[in-house]
Parts: sequence; structure tokens; C-alpha cells
Amino acid sequence: MWSCRSSVPPCLPGEPPSEMRVSAKAAKDPGSGATLPEDSNMAWLVQPRLVNDPFSDPTLLLDFAFARRALLFDLGDLAALSAREIIRTTHVFVSHMHMDHFSGFDRLLRLNLYQPRTVHLIGPPGLCDAVAAKLAAYTWNLLGPNSADFRLIAEEWLPGAPGGRSLFAAQEAFRRRELAPPARTGRILLEEGDFTVEAALLDHGIPCLAFALQETLRVNVHRPALEAAGLPVGPWLTAAKQAMRRGAAEGTEIAIDAGRGVRLEWLRERGVLRAGPGQRITYATDLGASPGNVEALVSLARGSDMLFIEAGFLAEDGAMAARKNHLTAAQAGGIARAAGVVHARPMHFSSRYAGREEALRQEFAAAFGAAA
Ligand SMILES: [Zn+2]
Repeated sequence: MWSCRSSVPPCLPGEPPSEMRVSAKAAKDPGSGATLPEDSNMAWLVQPRLVNDPFSDPTLLLDFAFARRALLFDLGDLAALSAREIIRTTHVFVSHMHMDHFSGFDRLLRLNLYQPRTVHLIGPPGLCDAVAAKLAAYTWNLLGPNSADFRLIAEEWLPGAPGGRSLFAAQEAFRRRELAPPARTGRILLEEGDFTVEAALLDHGIPCLAFALQETLRVNVHRPALEAAGLPVGPWLTAAKQAMRRGAAEGTEIAIDAGRGVRLEWLRERGVLRAGPGQRITYATDLGASPGNVEALVSLARGSDMLFIEAGFLAEDGAMAARKNHLTAAQAGGIARAAGVVHARPMHFSSRYAGREEALRQEFAAAFGAAA
């Protein structure tokens, strides 16, 4: 599944994400837990999937494997996502508001409109105005206090400055309400027990954000140890893994079924549950190859298990890429290499290369150092 390949097909909606990656190496340190252990029922916290093919809008779905929940990195064309996937999205991280990164707002709104839930949008300065402008394009005379309690909260992030934060509620016909700026630590945009989402500020002629999801701790189930202990596979394992990831006290009792329970400590001691570093997934698009951008992105992406990165131009068009504040495929591959990522996926190819996709992939792979 994790073979090294320099030539990979485009990612199509619905395809398994792990079969089409360029790898710098097959694995990280043995035993680090950072790659798929052979002997466990592997459990990534989230499964990342590009929503569209690499010539279309770049948007990454981060689907939680064991919860009805998803995150989005970017908000381009969402037509390829199912309604179910959109409805379970709780947070959308917007890189910038160029149309190919923000036009999915309408579908997000349309499918959520009658749902009693809150969706958070987090992005660069200007996001609150952009959301307000989108909402102002429609007529909301049918919304009122009896409408479903759907809320949008838009939050802006800029390092070292309090960002804007606005609430738009369906029960208030989406009238904008200003909220206090969120309390944030450094570049952490979202912090939960299982994971954090970090950002880096990049220069795209305008502020543009890159994002990284960091799983707090990876917890795997060792199947032979499970079987040796005579314990069944079941939902209780998810609860046990969550408890361990969240640092629950070792004496914590996990219910296997109505009549049985087991202590977390016992599961660890028997090797049923094994912990390792959590996965890191980084997403970066729309940046020039300036030293500042490269430094910021390499720092964000360092050691990632997976990097999704724009690789839009061939080296022969490097001047054009620079003018448009985009990366060439070779520059993107160089960043992936400098960051020491395990796997990288080039994306956001310029439409001028339709039919020449392989050339982009080859330049990317050559710079990244993937096995040819
Ligand atoms: Zn852009």
C-alpha cells in the first residue's frame, strides 16, 4: 500500500487515499509508529483525501475514521463530496479567498442550512467580510427564530494579532454579529484532545495560510496480543484508544460489553494497545518560492507523514510561476525533501499542462528524491 512510486495517477473522488502517494522512503524509524504497523489494526485518526483531481480546485477532506466528523482544508469546488461528508464537516480552514479556494462556500451553506449545527470557518484576514458578502447575496426573508439553529462562525488568523470573529445565525437571518477574538496560542488554530491544527502564514501576494493536522498520539491495536488475551474486536477498542490518546489515568476501566471491563493499564502492559507519535498531515498551496515562504512551510511540514502541496508549473515556466506567486513542481518537491516528509502529493496543476501531467509529476519526484 505504501510502495514508493514516482508516477502516480490523479486522485479521483472516492478513491482510497493511501494508494497514490510519492514516498521519499518506505518507512520512518522502525517502531516509531509513524507509518502503518504491519501487525496492528491500523487506525489513523483521520483519512485525508483530495476532493478533486489535481487540475481542479484543491481541497482536502480530513475524514475521521471512527466518528461522524470531518474537517476541510480549503473550500474549493465541493461538488464531488457527498452531502453526508459535507454535513459532518465541523471546521473549514480556508487558505485564502481566491475563487478556486472559496467557491465551495455555497454548497457548504446550501446543505447545512436546515441543520441545527455550527460550522467554523477559519482563515486569513478578510474572511469575516468574505462570509458576510457571500451571505448578503441571498434573500433570507424566510428565516427567523423558528428556523433550524444553523450557525456559521468565521474566525481570522494572523500571527501575533487578534483576528476578527463573526457569528452568522440562521435564526437571525444571518445578520452579522461580532464576537470577541478567539484566545489562541501561537500558530494553533484548533486544539482538541485527539489533535491540533496549526497554521503558517505564507505570501501569495496576499496572506495565504497553510495548515497541518497533528494527531496527539497514535494508538494501535496489536491483533496477536488481542487474540492472545482472548478479547474480542469491537467498538470498545475505539473507546480504549481514545482514552489512551487523551492521557486517561491508567486505572481507567474500559467496558468491553455489558458484563465485562478491562483496565487501560492492563491493555498497555499486555501490548494490546501500543502508542507512537501521531500522524501529521500538512496542506500548502498558493505560495511563491521566496525564502520566507520556504522557511515557514518547511517548518510547518517538518516530519509530516503526508504533505499535500501545490506543484502547478514546470521549471521551464518558472518565471511565470514566480509572477503568479506559485510554486513550480521542482520547488514543491524541494520543499517536501527539505521538510523530511514521508509521503508527498503534488496538486493544483495549472490547466496549461493538461495532457502533460506526467512531466509535472516527474519534476516533482526528481526534486523530492522519490524512487523512480
Ligand atoms: Zn490563489
